Amino acid sequence: MQRLRDLSSQVESVFTSLANEFGEYQKTTGLSCLDGCGACCNNPDIEVSPLEMLPLALHFFDQGIAESMLDKLAEYSGFACAHYHRNSLDGEKGYCTIYTWRPGICRMFGAAGYSNKHGMPGLSVCKQIKQAMPGKYQNALITISSTPPPSISHGRQRIAQIDPGWGNELLPINDALRQAISKVLTCAYYMDEGEDIFAA
Ligand code: SF4
Ligand code: SF4
Repeated sequence: MQRLRDLSSQVESVFTSLANEFGEYQKTTGLSCLDGCGACCNNPDIEVSPLEMLPLALHFFDQGIAESMLDKLAEYSGFACAHYHRNSLDGEKGYCTIYTWRPGICRMFGAAGYSNKHGMPGLSVCKQIKQAMPGKYQNALITISSTPPPSISHGRQRIAQIDPGWGNELLPINDALRQAISKVLTCAYYMDEGEDIFAA
């Protein structure tokens, strides 16, 4: 279990760095999330790695609710991230119920960069921010060379390189959490049997 806790600490450290980096860019350009918006969470197909869900899985384990969360995820039939609380019928408004432990992609999404096919920096901004702040979006495009946006794929690589074995696998968010909780519970089971199967 210590190996999983060490991995989780490393993941959380990259999360902090990514949140700072992307937050700084969003502050500089003004392309920040809209108050009360949760439109991007209203989607069960958000792809994350099980490694990104490890801090949350360990948190559930430490709270003694890992098994019950696994059952809830198995029964979940909503069309969103299972930890999204909707505040509007259409699901556009709402909030994250596990904000401290949200995966890496949730710390980077909104206004971020990518490399286009010519290797030039591109800017990816969610529909909601684009519509609410067209002027700021245009400004960010104009200043893209002097203020390049941080890249989601680079952020993903930083997380994945902590443990490429389960950091490179991308799954729908609820499945990735199930897999992370299952690993934690499997490890705990063997710990009870006197064996640490994830020991380095
Ligand atoms: S973990 Fe939180 S921020 Fe990420 S998709 Fe789910 S509800 Fe949204
Ligand atoms: S990234 Fe865009 S869609 Fe998601 S919460 Fe922020 S403003 Fe809303």
